[in-house]
Amino acid sequence: MTYVVTEACIGVKGEGCMEVCPEFCIFSEPVDDMSYIDPARCTDCGACMAACVVGAIFHERDVPRASREFIHINEAWFGHKTGVRMRVREIAAELGQWLPPVSGQ
Ligand code: SF4
Ligand code: SF4
Repeated sequence: MTYVVTEACIGVKGEGCMEVCPEFCIFSEPVDDMSYIDPARCTDCGACMAACVVGAIFHERDVPRASREFIHINEAWFGHKTGVRMRVREIAAELGQWLPPVSGQ
Protein backbone atom coordinates (compact mmCIF):
# COMPACT_ATOMS: atom_id res chain seq x y z
CA MET A 1 0.00 0.00 0.00
CA THR A 2 1.01 3.59 -0.45
CA TYR A 3 -0.02 7.15 0.16
CA VAL A 4 -1.22 9.19 -2.82
CA VAL A 5 -1.04 12.88 -3.76
CA THR A 6 -4.33 14.14 -5.23
CA GLU A 7 -5.61 17.20 -7.08
CA ALA A 8 -5.44 19.61 -4.14
CA CYS A 9 -1.68 19.72 -4.72
CA ILE A 10 -2.04 21.00 -8.29
CA GLY A 11 -0.66 24.51 -8.50
CA VAL A 12 0.34 24.49 -4.82
CA LYS A 13 3.30 22.15 -4.79
CA GLY A 14 5.18 23.21 -1.69
CA GLU A 15 7.75 20.93 -0.15
CA GLY A 16 6.28 20.19 3.26
CA CYS A 17 5.63 16.57 2.49
CA MET A 18 9.06 16.03 0.96
CA GLU A 19 10.81 17.43 4.00
CA VAL A 20 9.20 14.92 6.34
CA CYS A 21 9.29 11.79 4.16
CA PRO A 22 11.82 9.38 5.69
CA GLU A 23 12.11 7.46 2.43
CA PHE A 24 12.68 10.51 0.18
CA CYS A 25 10.07 9.09 -2.13
CA ILE A 26 8.05 12.22 -2.96
CA PHE A 27 9.12 13.96 -6.13
CA SER A 28 8.38 16.97 -8.29
CA GLU A 29 10.41 18.59 -11.05
CA PRO A 30 10.28 22.31 -12.00
CA VAL A 31 7.88 21.66 -14.90
CA ASP A 32 5.46 19.67 -12.74
CA ASP A 33 2.26 21.18 -11.41
CA MET A 34 2.09 18.81 -8.43
CA SER A 35 4.12 16.27 -6.48
CA TYR A 36 4.06 12.49 -6.77
CA ILE A 37 4.67 9.64 -4.33
CA ASP A 38 6.62 6.60 -5.52
CA PRO A 39 4.45 3.64 -4.48
CA ALA A 40 7.40 1.29 -4.82
CA ARG A 41 9.25 3.08 -2.03
CA CYS A 42 6.51 4.46 0.23
CA THR A 43 6.47 2.64 3.57
CA ASP A 44 3.01 3.80 4.62
CA CYS A 45 4.23 5.91 7.55
CA GLY A 46 1.68 8.73 7.04
CA ALA A 47 4.07 11.58 7.87
CA CYS A 48 3.42 13.31 4.56
CA MET A 49 -0.34 13.38 5.04
CA ALA A 50 0.04 15.19 8.34
CA ALA A 51 2.45 17.70 6.77
CA CYS A 52 0.24 18.69 3.84
CA VAL A 53 -1.63 21.88 4.69
CA VAL A 54 -4.08 21.54 1.80
CA GLY A 55 -5.11 17.96 2.58
CA ALA A 56 -3.90 16.61 -0.75
CA ILE A 57 -2.50 13.32 0.55
CA PHE A 58 -4.50 10.21 1.37
CA HIS A 59 -3.78 6.60 2.10
CA GLU A 60 -4.47 4.61 -1.04
CA ARG A 61 -7.49 2.92 0.49
CA ASP A 62 -8.97 6.27 1.60
CA VAL A 63 -8.62 8.24 -1.63
CA PRO A 64 -12.04 9.81 -2.34
CA ARG A 65 -13.94 8.26 -5.23
CA ALA A 66 -13.60 11.40 -7.38
CA SER A 67 -9.83 11.35 -6.94
CA ARG A 68 -9.13 7.66 -7.50
CA GLU A 69 -7.40 8.37 -10.81
CA PHE A 70 -4.55 9.88 -8.82
CA ILE A 71 -3.56 6.43 -7.57
CA HIS A 72 -2.57 5.67 -11.15
CA ILE A 73 -1.25 9.17 -11.79
CA ASN A 74 1.24 9.01 -8.92
CA GLU A 75 2.58 5.62 -10.01
CA ALA A 76 2.60 6.46 -13.71
CA TRP A 77 4.72 9.59 -13.25
CA PHE A 78 7.70 7.41 -12.47
CA GLY A 79 7.61 5.95 -15.97
CA HIS A 80 5.64 8.34 -18.14
CA LYS A 81 6.21 11.87 -16.91
CA THR A 82 5.12 13.71 -20.05
CA GLY A 83 1.80 11.90 -20.33
CA VAL A 84 1.08 12.40 -16.64
CA ARG A 85 1.89 16.11 -16.84
CA MET A 86 -0.55 16.50 -19.72
CA ARG A 87 -3.28 14.61 -17.85
CA VAL A 88 -2.76 16.70 -14.71
CA ARG A 89 -3.19 19.85 -16.82
CA GLU A 90 -6.39 18.41 -18.28
CA ILE A 91 -7.70 17.71 -14.79
CA ALA A 92 -6.84 21.23 -13.67
CA ALA A 93 -8.75 22.60 -16.67
CA GLU A 94 -11.71 20.34 -15.87
CA LEU A 95 -11.67 21.76 -12.36
CA GLY A 96 -11.56 25.30 -13.71
CA GLN A 97 -8.11 25.89 -12.30
CA TRP A 98 -5.77 28.25 -14.12
CA LEU A 99 -2.14 27.19 -14.35
CA PRO A 100 0.74 29.24 -15.79
CA PRO A 101 1.90 28.23 -19.27
CA VAL A 102 4.36 25.36 -19.48
CA SER A 103 7.85 26.70 -19.98
CA GLY A 104 9.18 23.48 -21.52
CA GLN A 105 9.62 19.83 -20.59
S1 SF4 B 1 3.65 7.71 3.80
FE1 SF4 B 1 5.73 8.06 4.65
S2 SF4 B 1 7.08 6.97 3.26
FE2 SF4 B 1 5.13 7.19 2.20
S3 SF4 B 1 5.37 9.06 0.99
FE3 SF4 B 1 4.41 9.63 2.94
S4 SF4 B 1 6.11 10.23 4.26
FE4 SF4 B 1 6.98 9.09 2.54
S1 SF4 C 1 2.70 19.25 1.13
FE1 SF4 C 1 0.76 18.91 0.01
S2 SF4 C 1 0.60 20.68 -1.40
FE2 SF4 C 1 2.74 20.58 -0.68
S3 SF4 C 1 3.78 19.37 -2.27
FE3 SF4 C 1 3.15 17.95 -0.66
S4 SF4 C 1 1.15 17.17 -1.35
FE4 SF4 C 1 1.58 19.02 -2.53
